[in-house]
Amino acid sequence: MLNFVKPLEFASKNQFQNLHKIKDLGKTLLALIERIPQEFEGHKDRLLSLCKGLDEASLEEKKERIKVLLEVAISLGFSRKEPSKNEEPLKEISLEVYQEPKLSLEEYRKAKEELKKSVQFLKGVGPKVAKKLAKKEIHTIEDLLFFLPRDYEDRRRLIPISDLKEGQKAVIFGEVIKSGIAYTSKRKVFEASLTDGTGFITLRWFNFNEFYLKNLLRPGKNFYAVGEVTRFGRTIEMVHPEIIPEGEEEKLELELGKIVPIYSSVEGLSERQIRKIIKNAVEEYADLLENFIPRSFFKKRKLLPLNVAIKNLHFPENEENLSLLKKEESIYHKSLAYDEFFFLELALAFKKGKVKKEKGISFKTDGEKVRSFLAKLPFELTSAQKRVLEEIRRDMASGLPMNRLLQGDVGCGKTVIAFIAALIAIENGYQVAMMAPTEILAEQHYHNFRRYAQLMGVNVALLSGGITPAKKREIYHGLTTGFIDFVIGTHALFQEKVEFKKLGLVIIDEQHRFGVLQRAALREKAKGVTPDTLVMTATPIPRTLGLTIYGDLDLSIIDEMPKGRKPIITKLFLEYNKHKAYEAVKEELRKGHQAYVILPLIEESEKLDLKAVTTYGEELQSKVFPDFKVGILHGKMSSLEKERVMHQFKRKEIDVLISTTVVEVGVDVPNATVMVIEHAERFGLSQLHQLRGRVGRGEDQSYCFLIAYKISMESEAFRRLQILCQTNDGFKIAEEDLKLRGPGDFLGTKQSGYLEFKKADLIKDYQILLWAREDAFSLIEKDPELIQHPILKEELIRRWEERLKLSEIA
Ligand code: ADP
Ligand code: MG
Repeated sequence: MLNFVKPLEFASKNQFQNLHKIKDLGKTLLALIERIPQEFEGHKDRLLSLCKGLDEASLEEKKERIKVLLEVAISLGFSRKEPSKNEEPLKEISLEVYQEPKLSLEEYRKAKEELKKSVQFLKGVGPKVAKKLAKKEIHTIEDLLFFLPRDYEDRRRLIPISDLKEGQKAVIFGEVIKSGIAYTSKRKVFEASLTDGTGFITLRWFNFNEFYLKNLLRPGKNFYAVGEVTRFGRTIEMVHPEIIPEGEEEKLELELGKIVPIYSSVEGLSERQIRKIIKNAVEEYADLLENFIPRSFFKKRKLLPLNVAIKNLHFPENEENLSLLKKEESIYHKSLAYDEFFFLELALAFKKGKVKKEKGISFKTDGEKVRSFLAKLPFELTSAQKRVLEEIRRDMASGLPMNRLLQGDVGCGKTVIAFIAALIAIENGYQVAMMAPTEILAEQHYHNFRRYAQLMGVNVALLSGGITPAKKREIYHGLTTGFIDFVIGTHALFQEKVEFKKLGLVIIDEQHRFGVLQRAALREKAKGVTPDTLVMTATPIPRTLGLTIYGDLDLSIIDEMPKGRKPIITKLFLEYNKHKAYEAVKEELRKGHQAYVILPLIEESEKLDLKAVTTYGEELQSKVFPDFKVGILHGKMSSLEKERVMHQFKRKEIDVLISTTVVEVGVDVPNATVMVIEHAERFGLSQLHQLRGRVGRGEDQSYCFLIAYKISMESEAFRRLQILCQTNDGFKIAEEDLKLRGPGDFLGTKQSGYLEFKKADLIKDYQILLWAREDAFSLIEKDPELIQHPILKEELIRRWEERLKLSEIA
């Protein structure tokens, strides 16, 4: 848009290689900035002052100013391109790094033991220091190596006092002119005046030991001072600088002339102590962190092995790109992320490889039943549904077991597809089991499928907690004999003594409530052959996470809604306005439609909660909806009661259903066109989206009214609700939710252990995740058992055994 960014980008490219080629950069910039659009008038002066005198400035200053100019430009939206982001100096990676490590399995195991040793084995760490480190969860040497700097300080060069700028962190060197106590604004301070021949600076202490400082800072002595430059009237100063006397440079070599790592503070230890301890650990032990990832991958990705990365993160060399380090975007940070992702993806590839080796069923996928079913459907499949059905058919036809995740927003039509898959299996003489996360949902699937099933001559059974023991036995029997083709239930399906005659397909709905590992359990119900598995989820998983939690599954996405669906209109009401929302609800009820009112559930006090739901229900009935029938549904009801209420709602004997979030998944009442969510600020974004998916299931315009209490415009909750009002796109919402809450919260605690990375960030390091995935999968393809990489295999098991139960399949 604005071309004053162009010369800046050109000048800063490749570490300012072009800078000397550009003549009159300042003049050019001044002219261009004079012409920036009206709306940026307010920033013009700042920009102009940065350019004034630029052509006369020293090279260093030029670079600094160009960087600032670029930053300002980017913050104003002039340029999307971050300066020199991909232009890491790539400080000539020495080829040695790419030599495969030569180490025996024995030596590797010994190295791992060494790393597990207590920090006390380090020079300078006794029981006292160890205790202080333990407070930071640093117990072993490995812990210490992973205690990475939170920032870096540039102490590579001495800055002439006359060049110091306010706010700059700098190292200066000079001679003390005078020192002593002074009084400013009623406070006693210690001041020392220092000069290096170019200018003067005042060093200032508010908390001090007078005797010590007086002795240290005697006039005539030379010192280094490290600190942040401030301005006080016309003098520049440093408050509480770090002081290093001339002659002590050697002793404090970690403190000067370098990019200095800044660690988060450890109570009772000075920065210098921490740096020293870590230096010892890095020198002696960092190489033991060798990760045994084939070097060809590092070479291809321009990344580095873990040990090299860790060393450089703690003590970078002076040629390093400081700003990348500070932003945690250096090649070393990326290498760290790669290391973590690689082992995750290797674990997933390994697991997937195991499943792929099992013998599957080759289904015939174009039988008569399937064809006639498609012909009888009252609608045409969307093109997304067709595509996904093709993917499933291909899997089912192949002799390998299917392991597919079917992902799509609520109401996109996954269930129809699942049913077609079930029909294929049944037509081939196999049985199908479908697992739902809640009884209500299982029941609902059952009722939906039964409608189709009767048409097709398929025997469907519901195995839920609510049925009588006699009926249960009957179902068990039907499954053993093969009389029942299709059974739907909750986790009871694999917990109880259910046996199948010929299980061919397992369908799992809402997988991520089950946890990743339970998939295998149901599959084991089949004898001899591995049945195909189709996992359905209506919680859109951002691609980033899809590759991790579902990394061992193939992915099919339905990203299109059936034609004619009207987007739900979502509106936010604040407390004082909520009567308006309820007025609008009444309007819908008068048209013959139904409504949900959702109340949040506070887990700690379910009793209280129950009362709240009941009281609120009574209140709504008598005061707001006297002319309509209000019903209540909550988690403390027995499944029988719940079922009764749901049926009443479906049959329209209830107009307004008040519920805690138990209504969240899958409930399908197309006549319900409006939902009120009370205390919407207490819900997560994805959860709100799920709830909202209960309306908008028919042809009529639907509404969702969010009611928020005590909410500030700046809060994250407000942002959540705004996003919800703006879009109906589940994937967009999931991405936003992930950004707002991070992967752990996004998936709920059950799954988060899976995704705890030391340093990698699923969002920021997405590209690296893709690389790691590609590399890990290619490795497993060539060497599925990791026979050629025994150490890598051991490292894999060491890191992932707990979390992925690798051993179960290994
Ligand atoms: P999901 O399981 O993805 O939430 P469903 O399969 O329950 O979605 O579909 C929601 C509703 O849309 C159902 O009533 C279903 O019959 C209907 N439906 C499914 N596919 C289509 C389509 N291609 N065109 C029209 N309606 C469809
Ligand atoms: Mg198959």
